[in-house]
Amino acid sequence: MKTYSVAVIPGDGIGPEVVNESLKVLKAMEDVHGGLKFVTKEFDWNCSYYLKNGRMMPENGLEQLREHDVILFGAVGDPAVPDHVSVWELILPIRKQFEQYVNLRPVKLLRGLESPLRYKSHQDLDFVVVRENTEGEYSNSGGLTHEGTPYELAVQNNIFTRYGSERIIKYAYNLAAKRSKKRLTVATKSNAINYAMPFWDEIVKEVGTNYNVETQLYHIDALAAYFISRPEEFDVIVASNLFGDILSDLGAATVGGLGLTPSGNINPEKKYPSMFEPIHGSAPDIAGKGIANPIAQIWSISLMMDHLQMPELGELIVNAIEEVLENTAIKTPDLGGKNSTEDMGNAIVSQIYKLG
Ligand code: ATP
Ligand code: MG
Repeated sequence: MKTYSVAVIPGDGIGPEVVNESLKVLKAMEDVHGGLKFVTKEFDWNCSYYLKNGRMMPENGLEQLREHDVILFGAVGDPAVPDHVSVWELILPIRKQFEQYVNLRPVKLLRGLESPLRYKSHQDLDFVVVRENTEGEYSNSGGLTHEGTPYELAVQNNIFTRYGSERIIKYAYNLAAKRSKKRLTVATKSNAINYAMPFWDEIVKEVGTNYNVETQLYHIDALAAYFISRPEEFDVIVASNLFGDILSDLGAATVGGLGLTPSGNINPEKKYPSMFEPIHGSAPDIAGKGIANPIAQIWSISLMMDHLQMPELGELIVNAIEEVLENTAIKTPDLGGKNSTEDMGNAIVSQIYKLG
């Protein structure tokens, strides 16, 4: 029996609602696989916890999480708590402390859904954005502000280290080498950001010589346009923290939006737990109504299975989601239907049993 321990942080708003459905999927994984066990432990670290205790997690919160193999995360955020608190006191410490330097976001148009890019097919929209998750433009390394001088000024540091750039670029090349197109697209802007980006490009060149993978280097502005005009070119895209953030949200919009898209915050060496979550937030506007789409959260379990080296289970989950979207009438309101979170979750689970 292979046993994994899963820390579960449902969070706020629709977080617990969609996490609940994804836990059914985790259970289904055990049943279809046989010798597999997920031991889950829930942590109530959310905005209510903050309002009671003045912090998002206990002082030894990270130590508690560290004992687990993976983390399943819902979403945090509540109108009563400033947004930066939940981000800076919970999500970012987890990402940084556990060296989750890869932010992995599949951009894949599922069967049964239409893209707002109406001339693009399912084959055209199927790639992965690999975003650097620990440094670059979001380093928070401090900056300067000079208010009150004749020229008001703000300076923010972007930190690109060789160590940080090399490891994300290597990860992306390894992923590209495993996929069929054998192509890596790299976001840059070395013509304008003329210290950090030439450095990044140089490292791409060095690392790339070790792989039998075609490398395409595009400036970020052109690349954003190509996301719309020729997404079929892409297979794996690697980008810095800021560029990857923008590209992955843009990518999500081309395949149906927030209720559908997952992300993995990965520590590839498995020295620390990796964390899986939907890209959406706590959606206070629809929380408590039981109508949130659980697909993004359920798909995050698929990424978790890939990470735990059970890609056949990851694929089974995506297939089950596609079966429901393509061959049943079940749709949550964001997809234009009237079904509940639970209807959608149950339908996907029963497809998993059928296909598994
Ligand atoms: P955050 O700051 O945490 O990212 P946000 O307010 O920017 O939160 P979301 O909470 O993701 O963004 O919500 C944005 C919009 O998308 C809301 O109108 C919300 O109802 C909708 N939405 C988000 N997730 C889902 C979902 N799973 N199902 C249906 N609608 C969703
Ligand atoms: Mg948001």
